[in-house]
Amino acid sequence: MNVQWYPGHMAKAKRTLEENLKLVDIVIELCDARLPYSSRNPAIDRIIGKKPRVLVFNKADLADPAVSEIWTNFYREKGFTVVFTDAKAGDGVKKVIAAVRKAMEDKVSRSSERGRISTTLYAMVVGIPNVGKSSFVNKVAGKASAKTGDRPGVTRDKQWLSMGDDIYLLDTPGLLWPRIDNQFAAMRLAASGAVKDEVVDRGELCAFLLTFIDSHYPGAIEKRYGITVPEVPEAFSGDYVTETILGAERLAKGLAMLEACGKARGCLVKGGDVDLDRAAAVVLDDFRSGKTGKISLDFPEVLEEEKAETRRNEESLKRKQEKRAERKANYRSRKNGKR
Ligand code: GDP
Repeated sequence: MNVQWYPGHMAKAKRTLEENLKLVDIVIELCDARLPYSSRNPAIDRIIGKKPRVLVFNKADLADPAVSEIWTNFYREKGFTVVFTDAKAGDGVKKVIAAVRKAMEDKVSRSSERGRISTTLYAMVVGIPNVGKSSFVNKVAGKASAKTGDRPGVTRDKQWLSMGDDIYLLDTPGLLWPRIDNQFAAMRLAASGAVKDEVVDRGELCAFLLTFIDSHYPGAIEKRYGITVPEVPEAFSGDYVTETILGAERLAKGLAMLEACGKARGCLVKGGDVDLDRAAAVVLDDFRSGKTGKISLDFPEVLEEEKAETRRNEESLKRKQEKRAERKANYRSRKNGKR
């Protein structure tokens, strides 16, 4: 599901999630291994509260292992239990089950002290669209049969899937809205397929992706498309594009790269010009399916980028507020002058 997120959608998703959270002991927060920062929902900590949690980075098969290691350390230092998975192949799923068991050790030992022979644990998966929630749930459940809720207070229509012996997983994962407060994060999310392409300009999205890959993974684009990465074209180097996220120069270089990739792939229109839309579809599809290589889009620098953008946004908001106040004051003094 790839919905456009408006405040109403967010409020509804949050409500549904909060209701389901009451039924579980632990949360499996599923994120995208290529985006260990951007694919996390900014409100998740507030929604989950103090409930135990395992942080799972899925699609690890598509991510750069060296970058994944940096983020593993980053989150472990913050006290998170971190597991990387490939829900398509099933890699790492057993580690998640072990991590859930470990995170719940205290609860299990408390109830065995109280004389219980076994303690059943209830878990649920939450995450933004397209991170692999359904694939994960299917892999975890395997061929095990679904179990209808027989827990006091658990409604009959909820299905619980066996994750092994005494752990059950709610079969409907919690859907969260993606991080949409940051333009660069939105680009990265769109590149990964978590938000609709239409949210950003597709040409600019590819320009972002291609220039990012070129600077962080030198040679990857040349290898995939058999092209020589073009320099910033003269004709583009002016400031004809004023309102861009990337800046005119990076945009120009990225579009020239896209054009070269499209040419190499024969994405042409009549007359021999490159069909940039078809070229964009090829570039995005190659990236999303891992054909361009194991590439991570979130490097720890994103945190700095985010801070800088937040500062810019705050400053621009402040300027707008000041201007509004100024206009109001002018209006009042004119009105008073007329009296
Ligand atoms: P959901 O929207 O979060 O439920 O995501 P889905 O489970 O529907 O998965 C979205 C897409 O990602 C599908 O095309 C899956 O086949 C693919 N996918 C899910 N997990 C993985 C993974 O670990 N690796 C790769 N390469 N693809 C995955």
